Amino acid sequence: MLKTAIRTIIAAQMLVGLPAMAAETPLEKAIDNDYGYLQKLFVHFHENPELSFEERKTSAKLAEELKSIGYDVTTGVGGTGVVAILKNGDGPTVMVRADMDGLPLKEKSGLSYASHVHEVDADGKDFPVMHACGHDVHITSLIGTARRMAAMKDKWQGTLMLIGQPAEERIGGAKAMLKDGLYKRFPVPTYALAFHVNSQMATGHISYKSGIMYSSSDSVRITIHGIGTHGAAPDKGKDPIVLGAEIINALQTLVSREISPLDPGVVTVGTFNGGTKNNIISDKAVMTLTVRSNSEDVRHKLLQGIKRIAENAGRMAGLPENLLPTVELSIESAPTTINDPALTAKLDKVFKAKLGADKVIPYVQRNMGAEDFSYFVQTPEHVPGFYYQVGGTPQAAFDAEKNGGPAVPAHHSPLFKIAPEGSIKMGVESMTIAAMNLMPKH
Ligand SMILES: [Zn+2]
Ligand SMILES: [Zn+2]
Repeated sequence: MLKTAIRTIIAAQMLVGLPAMAAETPLEKAIDNDYGYLQKLFVHFHENPELSFEERKTSAKLAEELKSIGYDVTTGVGGTGVVAILKNGDGPTVMVRADMDGLPLKEKSGLSYASHVHEVDADGKDFPVMHACGHDVHITSLIGTARRMAAMKDKWQGTLMLIGQPAEERIGGAKAMLKDGLYKRFPVPTYALAFHVNSQMATGHISYKSGIMYSSSDSVRITIHGIGTHGAAPDKGKDPIVLGAEIINALQTLVSREISPLDPGVVTVGTFNGGTKNNIISDKAVMTLTVRSNSEDVRHKLLQGIKRIAENAGRMAGLPENLLPTVELSIESAPTTINDPALTAKLDKVFKAKLGADKVIPYVQRNMGAEDFSYFVQTPEHVPGFYYQVGGTPQAAFDAEKNGGPAVPAHHSPLFKIAPEGSIKMGVESMTIAAMNLMPKH
């Protein structure tokens, strides 16, 4: 009876067949074959993270890899930046950027290849360092794409320009590379492309939208100059802490009263420090802010509004003109990251045809995060840019979370981890498809 039942099941399975698997494309096959090599590189980068602007070993390794497959490599662009060029006849120049920096965090992911690295930063402070944003996936995928594009030189034509960028986490690396003559010493790209792995998205998927992808970000510092006095004799001085409190309250009206309710914006006072002792009225207090917007118009309004409020609050407090608060705008900044509509439409078609429409998830902006990739795009040359996300966590982990399992860690968490295979394979495949399509063989 049991035997018959088993035979019936087997027969039924043979009739129904296994679920139809899409045949592997030659590109997928080539990436599968290369993955062992890429995985070793990923583990190396993950185990050896470096802080922003300190990416010396990372950039040397990246340069060595790209040189070994025939790219013309320049190092030290904007600090530790790498530019690798592969000229392959007449045609457009496609730039692909990967950021290289880790974060000052002690890794608690529990991975066998977790980082134990410590590094002293430019100010002489010692930090544990971790790839807690997935930039190790970006560097590895850049090498993977470089290897595929070099192997398929007979199928495309143009100039491929690969960028290893320092210090994305301090939104300073792209600016530093441009300042060091990126678009003067090397070709101005016809198109600029980049992706970010996303731990909150399932592997095997990519996500993007036309237009705004990421907000602008500006760091602002306000130094409030008071007149120091005894805490028991406030009339003899000017209290910078009371003035600071007034400024903080007044800043709340910028988003709520001065920009359109239909335009998003953020003004966050992240630090406010002043004073040394309870009975001393200090002569100085300092606050630092982050300011976010989705358009240059709102960005300008918010920044000018901060300056106006801080200076006039000083006047309101009766401070002389030479002691009004000093407002430093955009100490670290990035413009909005905008996906060029025509380029997005073109790549959308290609991705859906080559990867499958089910692999593409429409992108929804859920917070006002920023990216300094925008610097490569918003230049006087107006380079059309395309930035997208690649899923970094297996669907099974999200299912487990739903059923009461551990939460999938966010970026910048000490628990952060990425599934390298799914994300690197998709990173290489999608970027290779995009680059090939933008540099067709005549
Ligand atoms: Zn990050
Ligand atoms: Zn990042």
